[in-house]
Amino acid sequence: MTFFNFLSDDQQAWRENCFRFMEREITRDYIRECDMAREYYFDGYDKIVKEGWHSLLMPEELGGSAAGPMEYAVMCEAGARYGYDFVAAVVGTPSFTAQNLIKFGNPDQIDRFIKPFVAGELRFSIGISEPEAGSDAASTQTRAVRDGDEYVITGAKQWISGSGLPNAHILMLVRTDPDAPKHQGLSTIVVPNNLEGMTLNKLKTLARRGMGTYQVFLDEVRVPVANRIGEEGQGWEIIGSNLELERIACASGYTGCAQQAVDDALLYATQREQFGQPIYEFQVLKHMLADMQTQVDAARMLTYRAAAKVAAGEPALREVSMAKLFASETLLKTGEQGVRIMGGHGMLPEADMERYFREGMQSTIGGGTSQIQRSIIAKTMRETVRS
Ligand SMILES: Cc1cc2nc3c(=O)[nH]c(=O)nc-3n(C[C@H](O)[C@H](O)[C@H](O)COP(=O)(O)OP(=O)(O)OC[C@H]3O[C@@H](n4cnc5c(N)ncnc54)[C@H](O)[C@@H]3O)c2cc1C
Repeated sequence: MTFFNFLSDDQQAWRENCFRFMEREITRDYIRECDMAREYYFDGYDKIVKEGWHSLLMPEELGGSAAGPMEYAVMCEAGARYGYDFVAAVVGTPSFTAQNLIKFGNPDQIDRFIKPFVAGELRFSIGISEPEAGSDAASTQTRAVRDGDEYVITGAKQWISGSGLPNAHILMLVRTDPDAPKHQGLSTIVVPNNLEGMTLNKLKTLARRGMGTYQVFLDEVRVPVANRIGEEGQGWEIIGSNLELERIACASGYTGCAQQAVDDALLYATQREQFGQPIYEFQVLKHMLADMQTQVDAARMLTYRAAAKVAAGEPALREVSMAKLFASETLLKTGEQGVRIMGGHGMLPEADMERYFREGMQSTIGGGTSQIQRSIIAKTMRETVRS
């Protein structure tokens, strides 16, 4: 029986391997420097591709490892050790977007998009949100009009993370039938980021600075019909089909980063002296640290429970939403408490804590806000009420 008793011995060994890899290959200085310079993790991405983390979930015949949600969760947890943005940039968003193509793509699309993705030559972004379609994502207005064997796309997407990177391909949710009911007139199309008529603008966000998040303007952009994934009208189903994996990636990444916030705060508290003793000796700080670690352990357990349910093929909307909600709020709280424990030092970039705090704020918004997660959880509870 391992300490993390949600994990088998093999999964525990995989977890240790992932943490060792991070320790060896991806330093905290590197992650901090990318954040401060708002630069993508090009070197880190190459190492991740070499290690095969980005294609962990892919079938073996496509060069992946055919791993399950639990292996994915522990890898995302380790990968977020020095910052959530790193794992989201090099593994999370690209890999769960690629899963949509694995499920709904045809052989030609697997050849054109998935094979170069596995080789590390093509990146995926997910393009759902728009200026007027945030939490209410199905109110997408970006319009794709069929013209022979092309779609002509006009509109604007907002917050599309990683979409400005070299050879990024956006899996974009667009409206193909404005007369159909809201959720039924949508389709998903793979849109390379360098087509004529596209303009991308990197936003100066509080967090998500290394990966970068962009406004994407589309002015009569022509995309082959052969880039449509699935059928016309199937877009909402396709975008929603990997919601569980997305929330597992988020929750496990937030947990990994929150654990580092606790570890850093604990180390600092034992080394910093005031009034002739380590500040750790003040009971108020001990209690803050105890609450922080308890929250991180709870976040990890909720995440592993969700991953175990998805791995077992059981419906897990409630569990993945609880894990995403709790882990994001835990990252925010541990970042905030960590800054308090470090005092003025916690405000400096080299302490990393201010970055964990910023990433915590972002984590309660991206991937569906905390309010939306609570509404989903409450809805699943309401469905169980028997009169
Ligand atoms: C850094 C960053 C990266 C992102 N990356 C991507 C990406 O790669 N791809 C992508 O498609 N999107 C991305 N997003 C967009 C993200 O998914 C949205 O920001 C999020 O869904 C919220 O939408 P919104 O910002 O428009 O807020 P709104 O939907 O306008 O919400 C504003 C407030 O109202 C609340 N609210 C709205 N509706 C309800 C409701 N029904 N019940 C209760 N409260 C409600 C919200 O919880 C929030 O507090 C990213 C966002 C950020 C900040």
